[in-house]
Amino acid sequence: MREAVAGELAAAYHSTLVDEVRAAGFRHQRGRLTIHLAREFGFCYGVDRAVDYAYQAVARFPGRNVFLTGEIIHNPHVNDRLRANGIRFLSDAAERTHQLGPEDVVILPAFGVTVGEMKRLADLGCTLVDTTCGSVLTVWKNVVRYAQDGFTAIIHGKVKHEETRATASQALKYPRGRYLVVLDREEAACVCDYIRHGGDREAFLARFAHAASPGFDPDVDLERIGCANQTTMLMSESLEIGEMFGAAMRDRYGADRLDEHFRTFDTICSATQERQDAVEALLGQEPIGLMIVVGGYNSSNTCNLAKICAARVRTYHIADPASLLSAERIRHRPVGAPSTAPAAEVVSEHWLPASGPIVIGLTAGASTPNNIVGQVIETLERFTGIA
Ligand code: SF4
Repeated sequence: MREAVAGELAAAYHSTLVDEVRAAGFRHQRGRLTIHLAREFGFCYGVDRAVDYAYQAVARFPGRNVFLTGEIIHNPHVNDRLRANGIRFLSDAAERTHQLGPEDVVILPAFGVTVGEMKRLADLGCTLVDTTCGSVLTVWKNVVRYAQDGFTAIIHGKVKHEETRATASQALKYPRGRYLVVLDREEAACVCDYIRHGGDREAFLARFAHAASPGFDPDVDLERIGCANQTTMLMSESLEIGEMFGAAMRDRYGADRLDEHFRTFDTICSATQERQDAVEALLGQEPIGLMIVVGGYNSSNTCNLAKICAARVRTYHIADPASLLSAERIRHRPVGAPSTAPAAEVVSEHWLPASGPIVIGLTAGASTPNNIVGQVIETLERFTGIA
């Protein structure tokens, strides 16, 4: 079945221009424009597989309703194409009244669904096409092990992100399972402070109620903790947060008893890590004048790539080539806004130098197909007077 949809996938997402740039050492020079493409960018193995399975599902179950629970990945173009291919989205208002049953096929997204949602769909007898990425499943395995052993999973992630919600739900498979989601260093520091010194329990619960398992008690549930993370977070931040918790537990219980109270493992997926490393390398090696990061505004890994770039150089996070309004104007998402908040775009003026050489760094999030990246390159060529 894979071969049957290969042509369709290539037609939808392939870019000859991107292949050429890759073959030319990830450098594309035309006239006054030089583009340096990050060595790792765009579709990751998990997204590749999820999109492939979705197309296969349509081919394999002709005449049956094929649904997605929601976005398969965080890229509007990919989701729109799936809709055009006949896949329906259970998250659409129009589908709310549809009664799912054994005749229906339901595709689960790359970032997974909660334990409760999986059970509901299975109980309804739906045929499930599970595209949950192997890297997400690895996180789940560790979180389940924490729950079995009575450790609270401290999840570095975005509490509203589908993957984090799904991961947190794994902790509740066992009666002793607990979870607490921390967004960033600041929240981690607050929890670490409570671990070291205790504090105002009610104030703690007021702050973290939305991010903790039901009935969470910080005086009990922070005694034994294990770290995990949403796979697409900033790797440097996740590692630092893991170390912060390790240090807090060491202070509280002593180095010789640390193993009884603290566990950790690295759950940033390799694709996320490679894309973050690649932009760091690009910015370290090339004289980049400005950086363009392409990807869905609700894509966590894309937002984090933009954050890394913005710390070093002027950076524009754009959704697609249509965001490049003209050589003078660009529509983009301000870097730093959380990917789980509604997208608030801004328009910046005079973003491209009107004359002289321009060196642009380019990367794309793990849910951005190559054809979108290729169209961005073509648009940049047009705006700099080449095409
Ligand atoms: S970003 Fe990582 S965890 Fe997410 S789908 Fe891609 S490979 Fe899997």
